[in-house]
Amino acid sequence: MEITRDTPLTDFPGVGEARAKKLEKLGLSAAGDLLACYPRDYEDRRKVYAIGEAPQEGRVCIAAMAAEHPRLSRLRKGLELVQVKAVDHTGALHLTFFNQSYVERAIRAGEEYIFYGTVQLQGRRRSMVNPIFERLGKQSVTGCIMPVYRLTAGISNHLLASLVRQALPCAGGLPETLPQHIRQSHQLAAVEFAVKNIHFPVDEAALDLARRRLAFEELFYLAVGLSFLKERRDQGGAGRVLPPRPLEEFLALLPFAPTQAQRRVMCEVAQDVTSGRPMNRLVQGDVGSGKTAVAAFAGWLCAKGGCQAALMAPTEVLAEQHFRSLTALLAPAGVRVARLTGSMSAGEKRKVRAGLAAGDVGFVVGTHALLSEGVVFSNLALIVADEQHRFGVAQRAALAAKSGEDVVPHVLVMSATPIPRTLALMIYGDLDVSVIDQLPPGRTPIETYVVREDKRQRMYNFVRSQVAEGRQAYIICPAVEDNTALSGEERPALNLKSVKTYAETLQREVFPDLRLGVLHGKMKPKEKEAAMSSFSSGETQVLVATTVVEVGVDVPNASLIIIENADRFGLSQLHQLRGRVGRGAHRSHCVLITATRSLEAMERLRVLASTTDGFQISEEDLKARGPGDFFGNRQHGLPQMKLADLTGDMRLLSQAQEAARTLLAQDPRLSNPENRPVWERVRQLFADTPDIFN
Ligand code: ADP
Ligand code: MG
Repeated sequence: MEITRDTPLTDFPGVGEARAKKLEKLGLSAAGDLLACYPRDYEDRRKVYAIGEAPQEGRVCIAAMAAEHPRLSRLRKGLELVQVKAVDHTGALHLTFFNQSYVERAIRAGEEYIFYGTVQLQGRRRSMVNPIFERLGKQSVTGCIMPVYRLTAGISNHLLASLVRQALPCAGGLPETLPQHIRQSHQLAAVEFAVKNIHFPVDEAALDLARRRLAFEELFYLAVGLSFLKERRDQGGAGRVLPPRPLEEFLALLPFAPTQAQRRVMCEVAQDVTSGRPMNRLVQGDVGSGKTAVAAFAGWLCAKGGCQAALMAPTEVLAEQHFRSLTALLAPAGVRVARLTGSMSAGEKRKVRAGLAAGDVGFVVGTHALLSEGVVFSNLALIVADEQHRFGVAQRAALAAKSGEDVVPHVLVMSATPIPRTLALMIYGDLDVSVIDQLPPGRTPIETYVVREDKRQRMYNFVRSQVAEGRQAYIICPAVEDNTALSGEERPALNLKSVKTYAETLQREVFPDLRLGVLHGKMKPKEKEAAMSSFSSGETQVLVATTVVEVGVDVPNASLIIIENADRFGLSQLHQLRGRVGRGAHRSHCVLITATRSLEAMERLRVLASTTDGFQISEEDLKARGPGDFFGNRQHGLPQMKLADLTGDMRLLSQAQEAARTLLAQDPRLSNPENRPVWERVRQLFADTPDIFN
């Protein structure tokens, strides 16, 4: 059979209707799809052992000759056994196959095979159960570096690898999409070589070359696509020009003196919004560095200039808090601050919407609801996205549509998640980055302890002593109700503290004399709001909560946070949670409770205990969980990279960006026939981000 890239997988031997359906789940329906389905890992099966020399650990390849005709026996209905002995000059290997009766015909006495499996040693008898085997000299999945693919139920790696092997010859027909001069100047392998070696690399060097070329390609198309986006922004209308105001006028409103870093970032923002070009700025600052003041400044400048600003928070709890603090800060300066959240009545919402449409409201605070259809602004000039590092290209496009006319709103994204600059550029498109690299003065570093169950009583005493000193405490639990979030298997093994029952028990048995509150995501918005404001006001002394308090919540009087089942959280998340304390002048503590037996989990928690540096913590987190998890599932609105590691391949990333810049300088619309393939690929890649190319 001649296989082309269009050959459907049903034409492949061994692929019937049922398997074809399953392969489709992996996005595979034709030979060409197989080529584009890159392995997630590799297994080195190059070393082929003699029977007597094969290690007994892990799976190995052994070359040996079948010494007899295989013996088939039916032990009972549904259990068939094929046994055969293989030999070489060092000894014998006893092979057993369960329910694979075809082996009786497939293995012939006197022929040589490679057997791939785990060697078991009983006394001096060596055996292997259900090995993969191939005729010596006709191997496709043994004696080589073997690709390991992402799988789905009913599709084995062995099957997928052999399908890819069969499809591999048609890589010869793949068009070269990278322009020749780029390949040459960056020393990138040809496409055929790259595709063949990404699946079945001849050796490590070939794998490196293949990976480099394909990863470069991904980053290159990404960079080209983002350049188009940037160009659209530049042509997409002007930003509202806000009249400048003296910074000191705003600073006089603050109850504290700004840090040098806050002052610098405010100046950068002021420059942006008075320039006439739409601002597009990311403000990065570790938890507690005081990003809210910068957001307040931008909103103030905007409202005082006769325009409207909108601040979007990821949770209602955070939106409420911002509403309260911004009102307190800006109302005295004559700025009308409003909120628009789910907990408001229909009537209240209507009033706010009317105020926005009429232009009476200068600064509105809310959640994503602000993006909804019914909200019309009279004069929207600024959008602040707080703690939403996933607020990417696509959301920005949606918001731009809201400001009407030809004016593009200024955008300010605030994030505590440290992202390397180059990566930030890729994720947010073209974007300026400001860093608040300084904490407000007078903070004492948060002390963090990892403790086990046996210290529980001492910890409760600690809560009591903190409360006695007038402080407040958070107790964070992973689940809302008793282990409902877990699958049946997990349930008995774990004893996760659930907010509801735990809070009741604490109130009844441990702290009958203290004022406890509860806060979790399943509460009604009104209830959440009440719980939060009673903690802010100091009415509630101990707040038992889920991670709804994870980002942004600011109660400076809270000096202790206890995190139950701490091993269940990611490091960056723990760092965020910890950032709920240490926000005032009080000495603050974070207690991580765990019952884990995993050494690795303990190690991770110790990292957190040993540093408060957000950059270091997020690096550790990246190492442990990978960038996919870090940025959520495609929520940043960018195409997914198959090979390129956006956080690891920094050099390659800047090379690809450089190449994209050079190419677009020569041929800005990619209209040169030689560059058409690039244009096509970019368009495919950004298929989910509409409007890029209009
Ligand atoms: P984040 O960067 O995590 O959003 P916030 O803006 O919530 O931080 O600020 C954390 C706390 O520090 C708040 O209570 C805020 O009032 C206070 N704060 C911010 N800037 C300063 C400053 N320059 N001096 C003293 N306190 C400050
Ligand atoms: Mg914040």
